[in-house]
Amino acid sequence: MQDPKVSGSPNTSLQEFDLIFFGGTGDLAMRKLLPALYNRFRDSQHTQGWRIIGVARQDMSRDDYLNLVNEHCRQFIPHGEFDAVAWTAFTAHLEYLKLDGLLADDYAELARRLQHSTDRVRVFYLSTAASLFAQICQNLSAAGLVTPQTRVVLEKPLGRDRASSFEINEAVGKIFEERQIFRIDHYLGKETVQNLIALRFGNSIFEPLWRRSNIQDVQITIAETVGVEGRGEYYDRYGALRDMVQNHLLQLLCILAMEPPSSIDPDAVRDEKLKVLRALKPITMDAIKTKTVRGQYRAGAIDGKAVPGYLNEDGIPADSSTETFVAIKAELENWRWSGVPFYLRTGKRMQERVAEIVINFRPVPHAILPVSASEGNRLVIRLQPDEEVMLYLMVKVPGAEMKVRPVDLNLDFKQEFKTRQWDAYERLLMDAILGKLTLFMRRDELDAAWRWIDPIRDGWDALGEPPKGYAAGTWGPTAASTLITRDGFTWREDGYQ
Ligand code: NAD
Repeated sequence: MQDPKVSGSPNTSLQEFDLIFFGGTGDLAMRKLLPALYNRFRDSQHTQGWRIIGVARQDMSRDDYLNLVNEHCRQFIPHGEFDAVAWTAFTAHLEYLKLDGLLADDYAELARRLQHSTDRVRVFYLSTAASLFAQICQNLSAAGLVTPQTRVVLEKPLGRDRASSFEINEAVGKIFEERQIFRIDHYLGKETVQNLIALRFGNSIFEPLWRRSNIQDVQITIAETVGVEGRGEYYDRYGALRDMVQNHLLQLLCILAMEPPSSIDPDAVRDEKLKVLRALKPITMDAIKTKTVRGQYRAGAIDGKAVPGYLNEDGIPADSSTETFVAIKAELENWRWSGVPFYLRTGKRMQERVAEIVINFRPVPHAILPVSASEGNRLVIRLQPDEEVMLYLMVKVPGAEMKVRPVDLNLDFKQEFKTRQWDAYERLLMDAILGKLTLFMRRDELDAAWRWIDPIRDGWDALGEPPKGYAAGTWGPTAASTLITRDGFTWREDGYQ
C-alpha cells in the first residue's frame, strides 16, 4: 500500500514488453539486471505479457540457461528477499537464444521469436563491450526488429575518448532516434541521487543557500576497497578517469550544480545538466600538476588482509601506467558557482568503501562562540555503503561551559519508510521500459563530458610522469591531500566526520 504521506506515483504498472539482454550470460546480467527484474516482479510491477530473452554466443538450451541463472544470479538476491514461489514464476518468463551479435544471419531466429509481438514495448539491452554496439544495432535494423516502440539501452563505457564515443553514438544514431536511446549511468538510478533532486527542488530552504555566497567547497568521493576484480584487462584499457570520473562523478556534479529545471521532463533536466558540463573550466596543461592527481595502488592491506599492488594483478602489464586513483579540482565558470572548488576523487583499494557528496557551507562571518574558524555547517549525501543524508549543525555541548560542536541530523530512510530500497538498476530498467529518459544521458551531455576529460588525459600523456604510488588501504597518494590543503581545506575524513 502506498504511504499516505508520499507524493508521486508508487509502482507504475508496465505495458507488455519483451526485454532482450545481449550479454545475457555475463556478469552484469547475473549480478544486477536479472536480480533487479526479479525484485520488480516480486513487487508486482510487471505482472503479465512480458518476457526476457537472454542472448549470448554460448550454445546452450533454455534449461542450461535456467541452471546458470539459478547458480549465478540467485546468490545476488539477499536471503530475506528470496521467495521460491516468486522465483519460479519469474524464471518461467526467461528464454535463451544463442546469437553472435556480429553475425547478421543469427538474427533470423530472434526475429521469429519476436514476430507476434510487434506492438509491444521492445527493449534491447546491450550489456556487451561497446565495440559491438554499432554492429548489433545495424543487424537489428537489417532484421526488421526496430519498431517505433523499441528502445536500446547502452551500457558504459561509451568509448575511450570523445572521438570513439562520437563514432559509437553516430552509428547507433543512424538506427535509433535519440528518444529511443537509453545511455546508462547507474549512479543516476541510486535512491540518494533521487533524494538530492528531492532535497533541492522539493524544499524551499536550500535554494537560497545553494550558491557561492554560502557554499565554501564541495567534495565528491567514490572510493572502493576492491581492486580490479578479475577484470584487469578491461580496467587497464580504461583507468579511473574514463571508468569513473567521465561518467559517475560528472553526473553527480551535474545534479548537484544544475539550475532548477522548469520541470522534471527529460529534456528540461538534461538541458540544465548540459549547461553545467559546458561551464566546467578546462584544465589546461599549465594546471595539470596543481589541479589533478593520478595514482596507482601498491601492495598494502584492506581490513587487515594483505593485497597485491596493481602491477601484480592478473591481466595487468608489469609496466602499466593506468591510474587507479584520480583527484581533480574542478571549477564552474558561471554566476552561481564561480570561485567554489569542486573536488572530485575516486580510487580503488582505498581505506573505506564510500560514495558521498560533501557540501561545506561557509563558517559564520564573526565567531562569538569558540568554534574553529574552519568549521561551518556541512551537508553529506551518502550513496554507499548506506544511503543517507546528514546535515551537521553546531550545537552546545551539555555542561557549564559554552562549548559547541557539530552534530548531525541524520535522515534515516530505512527508519522513516521501513521499506526495501530499490537497487539503481531496478529503477533504470523500469524507466527504460516505460520510456522515461530523465535518468539517462543525452548524446550532447556525453560529448561535453568527454570534451572536458580528454585534455586531462592528454595533459598526463604530455607530462610523461608515472602515476603516483599509494599503499592499498589508504586514501590515495599524499598529493591528493596537497591538492585540497593548498586551498586551505581538508577532505572530510581528515576533518570532522
Ligand atoms: P562479461 O564479459 O561478463 O559478459 C559479456 C557478455 O557478452 C557475455 O554474455 C558474452 O557471451 C556476451 N557477448 C560477447 N560477445 C558477444 C557477441 N559477439 N554476441 C553476443 N553476445 C556476446 O561482461 P559484463 O561484466 O557483464 O559487462 C557487460 C557490459 O556492461 C560491458 O560493456 C561492461 O563494461 C558493462 N558494465 C559492467 C559492469 C559490471 O559490474 N559487470 C558494470 C558497469 C558496466
